[in-house]
Amino acid sequence: EILSNQIAAGEVIERPASVVKELAENAIDANSTQIDVVIEQAGLQLIQVIDNGDGIEPEDVPTAFKRHATSKIATRQDLFKIQSLGFRGEALASIASVSDLTIETATADSLGTFAHFKGGVLESQKTNPIRPGTAVTVRDLFFNTPARLKYIKTFQTELANVIDIVNRLAMSHPQIAFTLTNDDHLLLKTAGNNDLQQTIAGIYGVSMAKKLLPISDHDLDFKLTGYVSLPELTRATRNYLSILINGRYIKNYQLNKAIIKGYGSKLMVGRYPVAVLNIKMDPLLIDVNVHPTKQEVRLSKEPALMTLIERAIRKRLSTENL
Ligand code: ADP
Ligand code: MG
Repeated sequence: EILSNQIAAGEVIERPASVVKELAENAIDANSTQIDVVIEQAGLQLIQVIDNGDGIEPEDVPTAFKRHATSKIATRQDLFKIQSLGFRGEALASIASVSDLTIETATADSLGTFAHFKGGVLESQKTNPIRPGTAVTVRDLFFNTPARLKYIKTFQTELANVIDIVNRLAMSHPQIAFTLTNDDHLLLKTAGNNDLQQTIAGIYGVSMAKKLLPISDHDLDFKLTGYVSLPELTRATRNYLSILINGRYIKNYQLNKAIIKGYGSKLMVGRYPVAVLNIKMDPLLIDVNVHPTKQEVRLSKEPALMTLIERAIRKRLSTENL
């Protein structure tokens, strides 16, 4: 009971970016190597996530849209051992209940299917021969929940949220080629060749990525690699600080602070560098009291990691002529 409440809380579809996140995570779970995210009007008009993954068997489609039908969680313990991103089994049901949704999906050995849901109700399903993979199209988000629409901010804010989500999914899955298109403008295109620097180039642009400095350092508990910009390069905001722990994108205010401290006086007050840190550690060092659907995580040896980050960046910058 408590467990399902804990899980449900993280599941709320608040805005276009939440839909993009859930659909793209499903595509990742389905072993896709290419994921295309197409939105119109920052996602308020249309959100489409197209993948080349495993697909869903036609007869399993109605089940996939039932709440909790697919929950993979057995115990609270399992929350911390999750490999796949999806484990709550209610994203599709939630999204379908507040939109006009179509899904086209096919497995390698099914003929493929097309299904249309409106406000959560399955309106039609028919055979639809397509290549293996899945395309989910969400129109008119929140058409039947005007209260939710009230919380939607400007197009700009909603678009920034979508970009942020796709950026970090792309960064934490450099083996997957992502694109993001809004109103026919290509905003992101990653190579999917498992190279973090090239992935960063796909996100921030080639010229920025070329100027990034590789860093690496370690202590007994942590292994740190990544890329940081020179201080003067930056028209960046806080959003340009990215931290991956064991391949998962996380947010941690203290670690962000350590990055800034590593720059010391080289960084003007209020400015941010571009930094992508890739940290490997024993998963037991990640605080188990933190809900895994939240990006904000606490670490049991946080001060030591802060010192390592600060030192790695300071050392690297001191070898550049600044
Ligand atoms: P969860 O991801 O937590 O299982 P969802 O509601 O997000 O719950 O998805 C329900 C199920 O539908 C998934 O478990 C998966 O079996 C299937 N599914 C959803 N999206 C895809 C996809 N893009 N490719 C293949 N299967 C999918
Ligand atoms: Mg899911």
